[in-house]
Amino acid sequence: MSAYDDLMAFQRQTEALGQVAGRLGWDQETVMPEGAAGQRAEEIGALESVLHARRTDPRIADWLATAMAPDAVGEAQLRQIRRSYARTSKVPARLAEEIARVTSLAQGIWAAARAKEDVAGYLPTLRQVVDLKREEGAALAVGGDPYDALVDDYEPGMTGAAIAAMFDAMRPRLVALRSAVLAAGAPKGLVGRFETEGQMALTRELATVFGYDWNRGRIDLAVHPFSSGSGHDVRITTRVNEVDPFNCFYSTIHEVGHAAYEQGIKADYALTPIGQGASMGVHESQSRSYENQLGRSRAFTGWLFGRMSEVFGDFGIGDAEGFYRAVNRVHAGYIRTEADEVHYNLHVMMRFDLERALIKGELDVGDLESAWNDRFRADFGVAVDRPSNGILQDVHWSHGLFGYFPTYTLGNVYAGCLVKALRSDVAGLDVKMAQGDVSAATGWLRDRLQRHGSLYLPREVVAKACGFEPSEGPLLDYLEAKFGDIYGL
Ligand code: ZN
Repeated sequence: MSAYDDLMAFQRQTEALGQVAGRLGWDQETVMPEGAAGQRAEEIGALESVLHARRTDPRIADWLATAMAPDAVGEAQLRQIRRSYARTSKVPARLAEEIARVTSLAQGIWAAARAKEDVAGYLPTLRQVVDLKREEGAALAVGGDPYDALVDDYEPGMTGAAIAAMFDAMRPRLVALRSAVLAAGAPKGLVGRFETEGQMALTRELATVFGYDWNRGRIDLAVHPFSSGSGHDVRITTRVNEVDPFNCFYSTIHEVGHAAYEQGIKADYALTPIGQGASMGVHESQSRSYENQLGRSRAFTGWLFGRMSEVFGDFGIGDAEGFYRAVNRVHAGYIRTEADEVHYNLHVMMRFDLERALIKGELDVGDLESAWNDRFRADFGVAVDRPSNGILQDVHWSHGLFGYFPTYTLGNVYAGCLVKALRSDVAGLDVKMAQGDVSAATGWLRDRLQRHGSLYLPREVVAKACGFEPSEGPLLDYLEAKFGDIYGL
């Protein structure tokens, strides 16, 4: 056996154990009995310590020193292993443990503070998390920019400066679109109750339409929808609200986008370092394009209107055009996770600027709430009414997820580019989507992008799929055209 083969065999078991850990997490959010929580924490902890020992095993350095990749795919495998090994060896074990300990406590403290609208009760803990993440960023950056090092965890090759340049170009056009749309008045929404049984039947049909492979997946209910796993076991969850069926349907389509990406990766790559999506941003480009550019298109909502009328009868909207406007209703609001396509990126951009300033040491945790509220007023035109609608709304920072937020908008930007390329490549897309057939679109995405997994770097795989370098232009053009049309701007 060569060093390369030994390394890949070792890595395969690590990947398999990683999948087991993920499945324990899935179980915990879906079917685990409540009384099992304590034991589950111990089970996951035990598995995590095995995984940590494997990921930092000194034999990896020896193998990497002599391994010869047989081909370009092998080169990509070694690149991924090198990356992950360098990362784990740069962060001292003491710091990694302290971050795990503090962020695990911080989540409970954040949840309690949010319930009581108690910012002062949360800030000392947040300060601890920020200090630890600054230390981790500095250790990873080795003299470079700590925030870039944290971003690189989620979006390899991307920097804070590149994101800032992109976001600064987007913000004025989005702010202008937001105020023009809100001034034009809101279209009619749905009325009535939508039984759980009917929603679940239609949500399963939507998952099938968007290409979800039921033979290698399943759908369950959870408080927060998510997709979990890769290779031959990729599961999704959704949720049901009986007065808002779009919540269920579009959460499902979004998670199918994530899951179809994992299921679409070449079978040979399963349980190898390149056998997963290229980055959080590229992942989000799949879920967002499935959900928004395809799922909320005029063509597809025309079909969905017919199916919803068959399943639920009258719900107060007379025709497909009214339904299209209801699906794409823009409303002012405080909460990122409830935001429409026009507002969503503005939420992300302010979090990016604030967290980058915190990690760079340019913003003190004590000034975070006023910085948040000032920025919210500037970009959204209203004042934050209470902390749970402002600084306390997201779980990310208590988890220590600094550098994660920008990947949401990066995903939207990539989706804008991919769908532009898709539409110029595939003729008659809307004719098919109007009949409930999105296979030409999902097939194009699978063939151009999904099947590669992490073979290429994130920006590279998007550029290869599109045939041009990704930029924010196509997303902004799409948003202005779509909402300009709906709102008669
Ligand atoms: Zn997502």
